Amino acid sequence: MAFRIHNTLTRSVEELLPAVAGQVRMYTCGPTVYNFAHIGNFRAYLFEDLLRRYLQFRGFRVTQVMNLTDVDDKTIRSSREQGLPLKEFTKKYIDAFFADLKTLRVEPAEHYPAATDHVPEMIALIQTLLDKGVAYQSDDRSIYFSIAKFPGYGKLAHLDMSGLRSGARVAQDEYEKESAADFALWKAWDEKDGDVAWAAPWGRGRPGWHIECSAMGMKYLGPSFDLHTGGVDNIFPHHEDEIAQSEAATGQPFVKYWMHCAHLVVDGKKMSKSLGNFFTLRDLVGKGYSGREIRYALLATHYRQSLNFTFESLEAVRAALGRLDEFSDRLRAVAAGAGAVAGIGDPGAQLPAWAQQALAAFTDALDDDLNISAAFAALFDMITSGNRAMNEQALEAAGAAAVLGLLARFDAVLGILQPEQHQTDVAVVALLAQRQAARQAKNWPESDRIRDELKRLGWVIQDTPQGPKLKKC
Ligand SMILES: [Zn+2]
Repeated sequence: MAFRIHNTLTRSVEELLPAVAGQVRMYTCGPTVYNFAHIGNFRAYLFEDLLRRYLQFRGFRVTQVMNLTDVDDKTIRSSREQGLPLKEFTKKYIDAFFADLKTLRVEPAEHYPAATDHVPEMIALIQTLLDKGVAYQSDDRSIYFSIAKFPGYGKLAHLDMSGLRSGARVAQDEYEKESAADFALWKAWDEKDGDVAWAAPWGRGRPGWHIECSAMGMKYLGPSFDLHTGGVDNIFPHHEDEIAQSEAATGQPFVKYWMHCAHLVVDGKKMSKSLGNFFTLRDLVGKGYSGREIRYALLATHYRQSLNFTFESLEAVRAALGRLDEFSDRLRAVAAGAGAVAGIGDPGAQLPAWAQQALAAFTDALDDDLNISAAFAALFDMITSGNRAMNEQALEAAGAAAVLGLLARFDAVLGILQPEQHQTDVAVVALLAQRQAARQAKNWPESDRIRDELKRLGWVIQDTPQGPKLKKC
């Protein structure tokens, strides 16, 4: 089966076919660093983490860019309220963001470009748009994109452009669909900006939010790349505007597939500080929940469905993880009986039929636009079958080791196994599985890279007629 995803651009589920076979270049809109990220933000980052991990599970090599919006309307306003220089103000939240990603076991992206480090690229892009006549300077000296000059405007958000007032302008970074209008690429300095300004050929000022992502996306991934993700809130205006700027500048399709994650609500209501149902990750950790429990709770609903977060759901997660931990401890005990290689599952050993079924069900589920509920069902069905087999003493040591290896492969996607005792094993078995997937995809450079990485971790691979075997070097 192929990996199929829902593309917002076409409103349909399509097979993911990257421009270069075996490699996916993806851009994920990152945080605006003016506050601690809340669990609604992290829901989107965990969806993207699941996507990234599953792509790797499927043998793709992933190059992911996540930007840091460290200059925009909100960061400037908040830094001035606190009387801090912009860089000093945003640094606190950038550091917190990376610490939070670690708590939630989010795999790092390859690049985290900050907007303030890429202003020259933004100026160059705006200059191209001015040269092509699709951007103009208004009376207030700001530069706007003329949406009437870009015939494809509205294609992502499926806007009806007929009622639009030509020449109307919107200066804010965020606005409603009903106010679709020429949007700011560059905002001329005004006193509310304080000392936040850069020199540009058309005058001092700062970039608009949308141009930041176009400039950084194209810098790291090229003028045309495979995949762009974000929350549904980003579809309009942010992503619509990214498409317009980028395609008007390059004449090439900007992105082939767009994926968007639905909202998170708490107890069925929109999260808001006034309702007292607003939570940052730190709030939940302060209430005694662990990163992996929160990760599980935010991951377990399909990304295109609204996620209803409740404390009861966190309690249910705690129970589910207890079952998972108990199962993996039991397998470990059985596997240790025959001194299976350092407890590491040997993918060359024969998986019991019930585990093979679980692998097929897990893969089918995630191939189907990341159907995470069905993937978790496959995992827990396997736990039921495995416990039954162990109760009946029908699982021998090599089989238990193989199932442990499969559990580690699942965990390379889910990231929910208990931390201390599994980390090395999980990493090693996950790497071996990734190498197998790369070999199946005939991605030899990637397969070699993983072999070298395993060597650094102290393991050599021997390819035998029964499959690859790991040996300590
Ligand atoms: Zn963005």
